[in-house]
Amino acid sequence: MSSTPSGKVCPTCGEKDISKFGKNNARADRLMLKCKKCTNAEGQKRREEETLEQREERLAYHATYNASHREQLNAAAKRRYQNDPERAKAEVSAWQASHPELVRFYTSQRRAREKGTLQPGEQVSMRLIYQRDHGLCYICGKPVDRRETSIDHVVALESGGQNTVENMRLAHQKCNKEKRTKALVASPEV
Ligand SMILES: [Zn+2]
Ligand SMILES: [Zn+2]
Repeated sequence: MSSTPSGKVCPTCGEKDISKFGKNNARADRLMLKCKKCTNAEGQKRREEETLEQREERLAYHATYNASHREQLNAAAKRRYQNDPERAKAEVSAWQASHPELVRFYTSQRRAREKGTLQPGEQVSMRLIYQRDHGLCYICGKPVDRRETSIDHVVALESGGQNTVENMRLAHQKCNKEKRTKALVASPEV
C-alpha cells in the first residue's frame, strides 16, 4: 500500500505514506497524528523517563483494560493472524525475544494450570508480585532487572505448593536456579 494524495504528513518527520500511520478512529482522518515510527519513539522515550510510580500506574491501567477487554483483544489478535499469519508469527517471536521474563511466567502459569494448582478467583500476575516485593530478589535481596525476573514458588508445586501470589516471590532467574540446584543436591532422591 503506497501513499494516496491525502495530504497526511507526520508533523515530526514529514512522513507522507499513509501506510506508515497507525489507526485512530477518534480522529477525523482515522489515523494517528504522527507516523508509527515517531509515535513509537515518543512512547519509548516517555517510558524511559517515567518514575516508578508512573510506571505502576501505567501498568495497572493496562492490566485493568486488558482484563475487561479480553474478548475484543483475543478477536483482534485472531484477525491479525488470519490477515497475515507470517507477520503475526514474526510479531509474536519479536515480543517473546524482548519479554523473556513474561514468557517464563506464562509458561509457569500454563504448567500450574495443567497440574491443577491454579486457585479459582486468584489473580496472579507478574506485576502484583513485582510490586509487593518492591522489585527485590527474595533470595539475594538485590534489585531485579525486568529481563532477569523469575517467579519462585516458596513451596514448590511438586511438593504440594499452591500457585498463589502468597506462595510466589520475585527472584533473579540465576538465584532461583541456584536455589533449585541446592535443593536437588540436598535431597538427591527427588
Ligand atoms: Zn514521523
Ligand atoms: Zn537474586
